[in-house]
Amino acid sequence: MDIPRPPLLACLLAAAVSRGHVIAADEPAGAGAGGKLPAAAAAFSKFPGVKAAVSGDWILVESGGLPEHPMMEGITAWQQQIPLPQPYRGANAWKIPLRPSKAERPASLADGFLRGAVALAANGIPIFNPRNNRGEFSQDIGELDRWGGHCGRADDYHYHVIPLHLQEQLGPSLPVAFALDGYPIYGTREPDGSPMRPLDACGGHEDPAHGYHYHGTGRHPYVFAAFRGKVTEDGGQVDPQPRAEPVRPAGEPLRGATILSCVRTRTEQGEGWKLDYSHAGRTLSLRWVARETEVLLWFPGATSPVSFARGGKGPGKPPRRQGR
Ligand SMILES: [Zn+2]
Ligand SMILES: [Zn+2]
Repeated sequence: MDIPRPPLLACLLAAAVSRGHVIAADEPAGAGAGGKLPAAAAAFSKFPGVKAAVSGDWILVESGGLPEHPMMEGITAWQQQIPLPQPYRGANAWKIPLRPSKAERPASLADGFLRGAVALAANGIPIFNPRNNRGEFSQDIGELDRWGGHCGRADDYHYHVIPLHLQEQLGPSLPVAFALDGYPIYGTREPDGSPMRPLDACGGHEDPAHGYHYHGTGRHPYVFAAFRGKVTEDGGQVDPQPRAEPVRPAGEPLRGATILSCVRTRTEQGEGWKLDYSHAGRTLSLRWVARETEVLLWFPGATSPVSFARGGKGPGKPPRRQGR
């Protein structure tokens, strides 16, 4: 059972309340200028375990890095990574500009930002460049599950498409994600429910009520085409952004494998997951339990687990940032 770390946001919220300035996810529109959350950030409050608050010029968002929906099903290009909780909390929370501003020239995702996240979904899951580091679209080559996600080298679950399935919980009026330049990303309709108006070359447009915003379309390039707002690129990724926490060395591609399912389980060792995949005519299972200090992993056919320490003391310690 995970014991949550002392959340920075709780401290920020407490400090804000003590100043007689309550920050809530349902603040009215236009509240952004006063250091309160913008109305669109209410999207984060719709998902358990995701918390948003304002600190200085940033919206800070905490999440445990795992979605509520099932994962991994349907992947045919698998690198043997599994979804593990991630410590996107405290000093390692997501940082979204509170007051986005337009860049002189848009920064294309085709030319850069191939590492790390370019956006954060409302359910606290990062969204990466739709291309892998060979320039292929992950969605087109079997790397993604039915929800547009998979796991990176740190066993970090992330999407490579705008997760339009979140529209079911959010409706058209709230964004399904925020780009890391601070502009919200709505679904396939305008926030007032009307049909989506034409998009500019970045994948967004201006609207008097909502300002500049992007839309997910479900079509190429699956994520907005370029950042319209100012972002800083450092080492091929948006800076700042949190780090995923690897607990073991990155996996190798398992050719010919198809992931059949990945479901939550509860055993005497704790809460975990069971992933079934087919390979070479057989169905095999991986099981794991993620505890606060360790991950127990049962490889196919094993009766006892291998333990990997969490909290940065594990073997194979990092790639500095999360990968592909
Ligand atoms: Zn729009
Ligand atoms: Zn990826």
